Amino acid sequence: MDPMITCDGCGFQGEAALFRMIGNVMCCGPLVFRACPRCGNKVICDRQEMQEGYEEKAREMARRLEEAMGKGMTGEAEVILRELTELNRCLNLAPLDDFIRMARRRIKRAGAPSS
Ligand SMILES: [Zn+2]
Repeated sequence: MDPMITCDGCGFQGEAALFRMIGNVMCCGPLVFRACPRCGNKVICDRQEMQEGYEEKAREMARRLEEAMGKGMTGEAEVILRELTELNRCLNLAPLDDFIRMARRRIKRAGAPSS
């Protein structure tokens, strides 16, 4: 059975088959763009278990980022922050977005990269 998809543009809800496949999301293969049949909005879709896998990865990266910032490793923190930002383009998690913004401010405050 097809999973249900909800359009975050107009709120239309329907089976995945109704949403025309547009293509892969660049940064992570298993995720795909589909077009909403009502408004044409691009919706990012994946399987629930994949989403959980990415969330797991994001949590791990957030932990590493926290650690790097704690040790004052600004260069390392910037690299992890970039990866985490890419990842959240697919996940779109609001709490992660807040964390990314907070981390960006902290890194900026920490000054120029040590390298
Ligand atoms: Zn829509």
